[in-house]
Amino acid sequence: MKDFTELNNQVIHIAQKWKIDTFGNILKQNDKLVEESLELRDELVLCEAGVKDSKQNSEDELGDVMFVTLVLALKMGVDPLECLQRACDKNMHKAGKTENGTFVKAARRA
Ligand SMILES: [Mg+2]
Repeated sequence: MKDFTELNNQVIHIAQKWKIDTFGNILKQNDKLVEESLELRDELVLCEAGVKDSKQNSEDELGDVMFVTLVLALKMGVDPLECLQRACDKNMHKAGKTENGTFVKAARRA
């Protein structure tokens, strides 16, 4: 299995091959991310219902979400690992509690 940097480099290579590696069109790329997220959601619904092959399909759709996310980072001209690190740092000390398997942030005080 390749590490994150190798996989990101492969995504960049594919984006260059498809000529979608240039800056700009970031809103269109974000629309693609939303589209792939909805495809993932559809598969997760089937997965929760126990439909055959939906787990594999969910994994494939999660991969699509990650792929278009990395292309979005490329188009934004940002390092996706730095963005992920900042998100981890931000969430490391976030206050809240887990309800039904989902973390819910603590309400802000006025
Ligand atoms: Mg897809």
